[in-house]
Amino acid sequence: MPLQSLNPLTGKVTKQFDEFTPEQTAEAVRAVAQGYASWKNTDFAHRAECLLSLAEVLKARADEFAAIMAEEMGKPVSFGRAEVLKCAGVCEFYAKNGEAMLTPEPVAGCGQEAYVDFAPMGTVLAVMPWNFPFWQVLRVAAPSLMAGNTVVLKHASNVPQCALAIESAFRESAFPDNVFRTLLIGARQVESVLDADSVIGVSLTGSEGAGSKVAAAAGARLKKCVMELGGSDPFVVLADADIDKAAKVGAMSRCANAGQTCIAAKRFIVADAVYDDFLAALGREMDALKMGDPMDKDTVVGPMSSTGLRAELQRQVERCAAEGGRIVKGGVLPEGEGAFYPLTIIADAPFDAEVCREEFFGPVALVFRAKDEEQAVAMANDTPFGLGGSVWTGDGAHGLELARRIEAGEVVVNGLVRSDPLMPFGGIRRSGFGRELSAFGIREFVNIKSVIRD
Ligand code: NDP
Repeated sequence: MPLQSLNPLTGKVTKQFDEFTPEQTAEAVRAVAQGYASWKNTDFAHRAECLLSLAEVLKARADEFAAIMAEEMGKPVSFGRAEVLKCAGVCEFYAKNGEAMLTPEPVAGCGQEAYVDFAPMGTVLAVMPWNFPFWQVLRVAAPSLMAGNTVVLKHASNVPQCALAIESAFRESAFPDNVFRTLLIGARQVESVLDADSVIGVSLTGSEGAGSKVAAAAGARLKKCVMELGGSDPFVVLADADIDKAAKVGAMSRCANAGQTCIAAKRFIVADAVYDDFLAALGREMDALKMGDPMDKDTVVGPMSSTGLRAELQRQVERCAAEGGRIVKGGVLPEGEGAFYPLTIIADAPFDAEVCREEFFGPVALVFRAKDEEQAVAMANDTPFGLGGSVWTGDGAHGLELARRIEAGEVVVNGLVRSDPLMPFGGIRRSGFGRELSAFGIREFVNIKSVIRD
């Protein structure tokens, strides 16, 4: 099967690429294993230099890369550009801080001398999704490479141009050949890549289905994996919250990237006292978001990545309405070209309906009423997921207390849930396990080794 770039604005295939044959895949994996043999012996200063040069290439080509994302998966160019610059930022972050995170740590009281070392292990396989097609790759690649590992990328089949563009950025930078390679392969070849002895683990971002299959394949081979899967983040609005600010951030969180974000606010849980005000404000803020051609730099919401995903979302909306959810705005598929989905609010759906426990991967906000704070926290935690969440309150200190009670990988008080290289990123429960970014991320695929001199 060829890998196709299909423009979600026009529905037309713009480019297609032959999938690697199994022999080509094996050859690329072997070349990266050879690349590892010398890369693992480089010093941190050299790795940092390579990362900094990659950051420069990314910055210089940000507009070009943003246009590729717009064409392949519908991301508006101003957001695509910001994504590429964020990738440059994560390279700079690990160039500056990676060595300190991996410097051997002395331990007193064990033998005459003892320390914990953080040694590279081999090639990391990155299985990546299309929704942040640059950021998700670089947030795995930058720490892995700084740690002395090498990386092979199996990108989502619908973004082959992004996958090749990322590889071309590496080639243009100071990185030597064969420390980062793109494998143009479909899902079926992933197991054979995991079979290679040189591949020591896999980091996957994507759906629960993909996660459970790839985690099982890694487990069968006794290889480590990090899983960053879906979410249904709660957005808890208390009676004393700044409603206008909460609605503004909530609308952007839910609708940016056409709602196709794992850490988007998805379940708005609102205190009874401010429920009507918040619902109205959220609607106004959503109306203010400009939807249109992703190549237009003023566009905030582009088309969804495919009509297939849009149809899946529409089925969820219809199931939700059938359960008693009140469609306050949107909810009807538009006529005409482009995989656009109207910005949608569904209020008062039964909280425990099966469909309300699913992830809505598109611009659909579910708004629920909570009678008090206790019920709001209970509702926030009553989900199979646990990726992110936010709490909105006029009392920041109390917000932090509530943040401790919300069961998720990240909780933000009065702000947008986001990924930041300074902070660990990842989930609990069906949102996955392991962490990316910060010192926790760079230590996922290293040999944490005890060295003792008696
Ligand atoms: P997938 O989870 O199917 O794809 C993510 C990556 O995993 C792709 O590279 C894909 O390859 C690969 N993959 C999928 N199945 C397997 C498998 N059995 N073995 C090995 N690799 C596999 O995402 P979809 O595009 O299908 O999105 C569907 C849903 O996933 C969304 O509705 C959303 O709920 C969730 N999702 C969550 C994301 C997040 O950031 N948490 C990101 C993207 C999706 P290939 O493309 O070749 O199938």
